[in-house]
Amino acid sequence: MGGITEGFVGAVGHTPLIRLQALSALTGCEILGKAEFMNPGGSVKDRAALGILLEAEQEGSLQPGGTVVEGTAGNTGIGLTHLCNARGYRALIVIPDTQSAEKIGLLRSLGAEVRTVPAVPYRDPNNYVKLSGRIAAETPGAVWANQFDNLANRRAHYASTGPEIWEQTAGKVDAWVAATGTGGTYAGVALYLKERNPRVRCVLADPHGSALYSWARTGELSSEGSSITEGIGNSRVTANLQGAPVDDAVRIDDQSALETIYSLLWREGLFLGGSVGINVAAAVETARRLGPGHTVVTVLCDSGDRYRSRLYDRDWLAGKGLRQPERTLVPAG
Ligand code: PMP
Repeated sequence: MGGITEGFVGAVGHTPLIRLQALSALTGCEILGKAEFMNPGGSVKDRAALGILLEAEQEGSLQPGGTVVEGTAGNTGIGLTHLCNARGYRALIVIPDTQSAEKIGLLRSLGAEVRTVPAVPYRDPNNYVKLSGRIAAETPGAVWANQFDNLANRRAHYASTGPEIWEQTAGKVDAWVAATGTGGTYAGVALYLKERNPRVRCVLADPHGSALYSWARTGELSSEGSSITEGIGNSRVTANLQGAPVDDAVRIDDQSALETIYSLLWREGLFLGGSVGINVAAAVETARRLGPGHTVVTVLCDSGDRYRSRLYDRDWLAGKGLRQPERTLVPAG
């Protein structure tokens, strides 16, 4: 490979692994964040979208001029729409109307056909994921990306994100920490790292309102409370998450996640999305559990740009009963 990448597809992946300096100093561990917000479509989901699309092309279910249909919290739809533009397909995206205006607006700007639907639980037949499957089945020439249960998703992370982390750390990884939406990122990386070194600790991070923390700790799916965090948490164990190693689980509340993304902004100069707050707070908790001298890797899923009107808006936060963290200036050392 030379210095030139081939179009959008060639620009997916190979993201930097960033040492989070203040949090590393605080914990005495290396806290490392995989900079997935630097993917060309702006999120970790570019990798899954690419893997799903390439497999559909290879198996022949997606033909030139065809349509890709998906139910998404936004980022997978954004990645898929970029890829559809780059490869000559139409994108039809079903998204709950609770997701940020930035993501929904961006999908429209990119040229996706967007259907916003009320957010209803997975057991409801009108849930956005199930609806997207039905639309795909009824649309001639369409394929359903089905990111939750299509294993092409986690295969993409097993084949790219995992090996990149292993190479960037020269194999010095003590723990891998990530929240899950589909579970593709968590599981693909966890399976790869465990194969290279069974002692890598795999830690599932979860927001309130999601059933996976209790599942990881007790085997029972149950949840309490709710979260403002978009794109993560689940009421079920998806095919992508099934069989993934889980050594520990950490639950993070919204205010702690918020404090974490503002600290990343003020102290590291990184402007990131809400799931990053859950991931990095859980990475810090994992570092505390392990003790100093360990290397903990997590994912910086997307940028704060996608949540400016929410996570970075004092009034919106106040409406949710949350405090906007104050800016603290720390002299450069
Ligand atoms: N963070 C954000 C912002 C996301 O959009 C997603 C995907 N829905 C995730 C994290 C979780 O990634 P995965 O689907 O691979 O579990």
